[in-house]
Amino acid sequence: MSESTSIPENASFEQIGEVLRNHQSFVLISHVRPDGDAIGSQLALGYALMAAGKSVRLINEDGLPDNLAFMAGSGKIELPPAEPLDAEVAIALDTATKPRLGDNALRAASKAKIWLNIDHHVSNPKYGDLNLIDSKSPATGQILYQLIIALGLPMPAESRDAIYVAVSTDTGSFQYPSTTDATYALGADLIRRGLDVGTINSLIYDNYPFRRLELMRALLNTLELSENGLVANWTMRDQLRIDLGLLPEDSEGLIDLIRAIRGVQLAVFFEELPDGKIRISMRSKDRRLDVCQIATEFGGGGHALAAGIRMAGPLEDAKSRVLGAIHRRIEAAGL
Ligand code: 5GP
Ligand code: MN
Repeated sequence: MSESTSIPENASFEQIGEVLRNHQSFVLISHVRPDGDAIGSQLALGYALMAAGKSVRLINEDGLPDNLAFMAGSGKIELPPAEPLDAEVAIALDTATKPRLGDNALRAASKAKIWLNIDHHVSNPKYGDLNLIDSKSPATGQILYQLIIALGLPMPAESRDAIYVAVSTDTGSFQYPSTTDATYALGADLIRRGLDVGTINSLIYDNYPFRRLELMRALLNTLELSENGLVANWTMRDQLRIDLGLLPEDSEGLIDLIRAIRGVQLAVFFEELPDGKIRISMRSKDRRLDVCQIATEFGGGGHALAAGIRMAGPLEDAKSRVLGAIHRRIEAAGL
């Protein structure tokens, strides 16, 4: 009943299962600057397929970030090799648009005959031959959990732990509104399957490098609140990355600190990238303020309550354009 006939329907679990059963070699890819759901999804499905006897490569444009190196089996995540891989099937995971897989990763997967696209971003245009997009799912890891169970695929410890990391990080520790009874049931089932929940939480959340706190201190010095008290933002210059020796993942999740301010409905993080582009992260607390729609105005995307943009600089211009668009949306929403 979709309004546009150009957007393909989702594949069924069974159709995805047929592709998995009928092929032997797979390359699994996730988005640039991978987070817990991206790497977690690759490990979850990758180790399930390997346990089923398949040949699997796990590649990421930016490789494995330091903060996820604790994950069991994460040594399997590689930078894209220079030569295209001999993989029959490419599987894009947690990636809203095909270019977000990265040029080198796309080249590495260019020999694949079939593309599967498994994701939970509402803005995903279904760029695969078979697509499984569930925007109600709080994490791609939760879709893969359901897929693994439905198809009766093996769930080795690496997959079990990776699903937990994917779901926990994308739900803000089982907190965001997309969290449902199915999400908690998943957590309970993983614990029944042997997940050590205390240890894995402390590896995810009590394990930050000191420089992340130095970054937080510097960001707090740039904190701004709009006159109406609805929008908070902070800004990171590229020089700070150089001064503190920051890695891309060091800023992950920090935006939740300003999202948590009482009265704030929308939080924005402006980051100047080494190439001069500006990366923007947005979080909304109010369904009437859809940050994915705002991001789409600038060529970005994501979810209704969490979205991002990469756009041309300089920083001041990007900032005033995006804040302008935000305040127009706030007015239109009558907040
Ligand atoms: P974050 O702010 O954590 O980087 O991203 C929030 C959400 O928006 C994520 O689900 C992410 O995939 C999506 N997102 C972030 N940046 C971009 C972007 O430049 N383009 C698109 N299409 N989505 C983005
Ligand atoms: Mn995700």
